[in-house]
Amino acid sequence: MGSIKEKLITLKSTLPSEVTLIAVSKTKPAELIKEAYEAGQKDFGENYVQELVDKQEQLPKDIRWHFIGHLQSNKVKFIAPFVHLIHGVDSFKLLKEIDKQAQKNNRVIDCLLQIYIAKEETKFGFDPIEAEALLNTDEFKNLKNVKVVGFMGMASNTSDENLIRKEFRSIKELSQRVSGLGLRVFSYGMSSDYKIAIEEGSNMIRIGSLIFGDRIYKA
Ligand SMILES: *Cc1c(COP(=O)(O)O)cnc(C)c1O
Repeated sequence: MGSIKEKLITLKSTLPSEVTLIAVSKTKPAELIKEAYEAGQKDFGENYVQELVDKQEQLPKDIRWHFIGHLQSNKVKFIAPFVHLIHGVDSFKLLKEIDKQAQKNNRVIDCLLQIYIAKEETKFGFDPIEAEALLNTDEFKNLKNVKVVGFMGMASNTSDENLIRKEFRSIKELSQRVSGLGLRVFSYGMSSDYKIAIEEGSNMIRIGSLIFGDRIYKA
């Protein structure tokens, strides 16, 4: 299986240079993150606010922290001072709260709109038509402290590669329709489907188990 360092090097050597690798460290202890950091990894993804805040305090300050989970509006304030990119923005209400908290911290926070592409009913996000409409409203354009820089998505949890490809392709098509807006970050693809995601236009992949081993599930 090899060490975290070996896994990172092997994985990176297969990625096109324009693809950013996010190491998803949710539920993993700070020591393992440190090991990946020392192997040169600077972008980490976390799903839970309290866990992210604790790790940010303990770990080196040049880590770029990506929030990739479902973010509740009332918790934005805890990560607003330092978060690098919020991936899962799934409502205008949340975007407004991020704008407000970013303003309090005198910064602009980069965000991705989460696009609902999977068949499963539990997944959050905008449908592509809704996302496109939102990006063109004045209400959205008036938010000065959030910057939507791209899209995020999660394909269905299935072994059907054609379905996965089709789902990712719908984000790619959306990106092409809004190509005038200067979006540049397309975050889709996890351990099981990142190769298909890259073929379908992803330039940011979120990888947990391939780097850190199997997930430890929270009870
Ligand atoms: C856990 C998680 C990942 C990483 O999943 P792996 O299958 O372990 O690579 C990616 N994105 C999100 C949103 C996640 O919650």
